[in-house]
Amino acid sequence: MPLDSTRALVLGSFALNEHDKITQLLTDNRGILKAVAPGALKSSNRFGSLLEIFTEGHFIYYWNEEKEMVTISKGEILTSFFTLISRPENIFHFYLMAEMILKIIPANQKDKRVYRLMRSVLDARENQTDINWLLLYFQIWMLRIEGMMFNPTICYSCFSKDLKEAWLKSDFRGILCGRCRRDEKNHISESELQVIKWTQTYPPQKKFSEIKSESIGNLNRIFLKKLEYHAECSFNSKQYLSEFS
Ligand SMILES: [Zn+2]
Repeated sequence: MPLDSTRALVLGSFALNEHDKITQLLTDNRGILKAVAPGALKSSNRFGSLLEIFTEGHFIYYWNEEKEMVTISKGEILTSFFTLISRPENIFHFYLMAEMILKIIPANQKDKRVYRLMRSVLDARENQTDINWLLLYFQIWMLRIEGMMFNPTICYSCFSKDLKEAWLKSDFRGILCGRCRRDEKNHISESELQVIKWTQTYPPQKKFSEIKSESIGNLNRIFLKKLEYHAECSFNSKQYLSEFS
């Protein structure tokens, strides 16, 4: 049972039995890690607030024999986002982001970008960046990291460029210009197409200055459907956000 350690963000935890918790960690170097936190329910000071959602901590753990889970032996809080996350205007957006990571990112994924993305979204929210914009930025990058983002500059069918508007294909794999479109419903305006491109270069706290809140809402709804389509799942936490109901 070799010891190992990692920096990680807590994405959620649930009871394993009356004494112990299972915690799901987004690590900075090995994707999602499922960890037993022994005694976390029996004694509240065993881990303190280390296991609160989106706490960033340094965790020391050992591997369980079946290699599917680890057991946390100790840990320390590096950054607590608890006050930020618990605010009513934030909590459900962050629950949704945690659920998206847990349902989309495979175990042992070595790509460090998901961790950096989540960390930069948390920091931007600390700096008062708009929460709906952050959810959009997050969704676009989740699609990009997983190789599911379409090219926002070109029609999937006729390859025409400089589109003034577009419609998302019903299999979510590309966009169509006005000539190629049939009965596709999800409309994306020229400025919305530019926003998608813009996120490739800029960090989330640099908000795209011309984007309207209706456009943020439109793209958030479109990309949530696209993520659900590719991951073949439904995100339960969306029911708490009015823009998805
Ligand atoms: Zn076309």
